[in-house]
Amino acid sequence: MSGRSVTIAGAGLAGSLMAALLARRGHRVRVFERLPDLRRETLPAGRSINLALAARGMVALEAAGLMDRVQPLLIPMAGRMLHDERGELAFLPYGQHGEHIYSVSRPGLNRVLLDAAEAAGVEVHFRHTVVGGDLAAGELHVRDEASGAVHTLPMEHVIAADGAGSALRRSLVEQLGVHCTEDLLEHGYKELVMPADAAGRYQMEPGALHIWPRGGFMLIALPNLDGSFTVTLFLANSGASSFAALAEPEAVEAFFAEHFPDALRLIPDAAAQVLRRPTGILGTVHCAQWSYRDRLLLIGDA
Ligand SMILES: Cc1cc2nc3c(=O)[nH]c(=O)nc-3n(C[C@H](O)[C@H](O)[C@H](O)COP(=O)(O)OP(=O)(O)OC[C@H]3O[C@@H](n4cnc5c(N)ncnc54)[C@H](O)[C@@H]3O)c2cc1C
Repeated sequence: MSGRSVTIAGAGLAGSLMAALLARRGHRVRVFERLPDLRRETLPAGRSINLALAARGMVALEAAGLMDRVQPLLIPMAGRMLHDERGELAFLPYGQHGEHIYSVSRPGLNRVLLDAAEAAGVEVHFRHTVVGGDLAAGELHVRDEASGAVHTLPMEHVIAADGAGSALRRSLVEQLGVHCTEDLLEHGYKELVMPADAAGRYQMEPGALHIWPRGGFMLIALPNLDGSFTVTLFLANSGASSFAALAEPEAVEAFFAEHFPDALRLIPDAAAQVLRRPTGILGTVHCAQWSYRDRLLLIGDA
């Protein structure tokens, strides 16, 4: 394939990186992204504020020639720091030869990828939602969120990078009868902030991915460049130890004091944050087919 027109749904991590890679190979690429441009507007994080980046992601960034631009965003994590119920720490290195994974800001990484895609000639249309397609007729349907108008475009070389709730995966399933299951886990997650101390320093060791493993639930924390940590509580949605059981500040305080006492000391407003922050959903998608002729290809979470 050379010098083809490619349309990508979604300018998240997968869509914007794919756009940059294809444009550099000489293809004409346009991207439709449902949300406004995150480089110009502050968007709700939606999902994890930072990510653990490991070898596979770095191979892709290197292939796009972007590691130099991503490097300043990276915080190396040499292992897991396990926190037990008494706050005792145990460090488990990721390897025997100084191997690291990295903590990286999700929007920071996405900005680098969008800049790279546009620099390579990609047209990115923000606030344009791909609502689906007609696979047999070869039509793609895109709604301009500013006007509400739905445009019909040819469905040729369309790459669906529109995330776990992919509208184009739904078209594939509904129109071709592709077997697909979407199972929600009984666990959800909430993200909290552990701030830097008064001097702007990290309150815990920044060179590690911190984990408070507790069997049916856990807390993890990844460092950010500003001295804070993003702390994620993974917990069942209902039952004895669950988000449903954490409806009052006293219940959250007691839960943290019992299971994560050292984290509670470093996040004094943990209860307010747990009650205020949205609960994210987690699920697994199994799809028996992820392409259709030269019309559609699903990538990433889609
Ligand atoms: C809590 C949590 C923590 C995670 N931590 C890590 C981690 O540490 N390391 C890691 O590697 N992965 C992690 N992941 C997984 C990672 O976030 C995903 O695999 C990754 O974001 C997938 O990228 P994507 O571009 O396929 O989808 P997304 O990131 O979901 O991007 C999809 C894009 O498409 C847009 N979009 C959606 N629908 C449409 C539409 N109809 N039309 C146009 N645009 C649309 C969205 O606005 C978005 O910009 C985590 C996930 C979660 C939920």
